[in-house]
Amino acid sequence: MRRVYNFSSGPAMLPEAVLEKIQNELLDWQGSGMSVMEMSHRGEDFTGIAERAELTLRRILSIPSEYKILFLQGGASAQFSMVPMNLLCGGSADYIDTGIWSKKAIAEASRYGQVRLAGSGKRYDFNRIPMPEALDLDPEAAYVHYTPNETIGGVEFSYIPDTGAVPLVADMSSNILSRPLDVSRFGLIYAGAQKNIGPAGLTLVIIREDLLSEPTPGTPTIFDYRVHAENASMYNTPPTFAWYIAGEVFSWIEQEGGVDVIGERNRRKANKLYDLIDQYSFYQAPVAPDSRSWMNVTFKLADANLDASFLKGAESVGLKNLQGHRTVGGMRASLYNAMPESGVDVLIDYMREFERKLG
Ligand SMILES: *Cc1c(COP(=O)(O)O)cnc(C)c1O
Repeated sequence: MRRVYNFSSGPAMLPEAVLEKIQNELLDWQGSGMSVMEMSHRGEDFTGIAERAELTLRRILSIPSEYKILFLQGGASAQFSMVPMNLLCGGSADYIDTGIWSKKAIAEASRYGQVRLAGSGKRYDFNRIPMPEALDLDPEAAYVHYTPNETIGGVEFSYIPDTGAVPLVADMSSNILSRPLDVSRFGLIYAGAQKNIGPAGLTLVIIREDLLSEPTPGTPTIFDYRVHAENASMYNTPPTFAWYIAGEVFSWIEQEGGVDVIGERNRRKANKLYDLIDQYSFYQAPVAPDSRSWMNVTFKLADANLDASFLKGAESVGLKNLQGHRTVGGMRASLYNAMPESGVDVLIDYMREFERKLG
């Protein structure tokens, strides 16, 4: 067996220790005689797994008790609709547009009410996050929505927008658990699991209890946050195996020393890669230094004709999935929590060597 360094933007790497634990428990989970995949979601074994996952997450992110944690399906994309269905109800919401994912959220919300653009990275060609002074917030808005980390462009907020009494909603699909977070600043946080939490198929929602209210008339039961909160995310069959793996990832984070330690490691990983890129004119980082993502490092080769051989050479030394998103081209190295620091070191060595030969 040979494991590679997988720089995919998602689904992405999982910690090896977690994969091994799951493998060990695959046929017989802790003497139950069955796989977690085969368990009833209402049985004692699985409800224990589910509760422990929630408690571990609550501990590692210090989530206050007035927040409900929901384990849902449909990906972050379903949340683009579920948020306005439940929180907008014909009113007006502020959205900050920082790239491809915020645009998708805006397009969905526009179907349920009025969307005001409260800020945009457009004048920076989406290579920079608008600074706090540039935000134009409506104090009457139902909520403010933003994308703290734009996975495709590789831009990340270095600050949390101050929205006063207006609830702040964040799509943290690609940077949740990447560093410490003050959850009390948010009304609602959502994240697809497949980047920093676990396998695809699970979507995490952290919602302040006072936001659980009557959704837009006609909202299907399955899209009503209250129904999931009242039923401990078991109104229907949840993605049990993904939930179990998420719980193992939360425990791994705790064993590693928590989000403080993980955050420091992520800062180091990203900084050393950006330093390397800035060091050579052969490589270029399109994103402004104050907006660079720790999770998705985008860069270009000065000569795009070398892209194919860069990728081919990288693959041959076990560095996989470095090609940028098809809409932006160039390269992207996703450095989620499970990417070991050694993976970044091997990538840096490879990039130095490639520059030395072809630069
Ligand atoms: C990946 C991603 C999405 C889409 O997630 P799905 O689970 O595929 O719906 C949305 N927002 C951000 C920021 C993402 O990184």
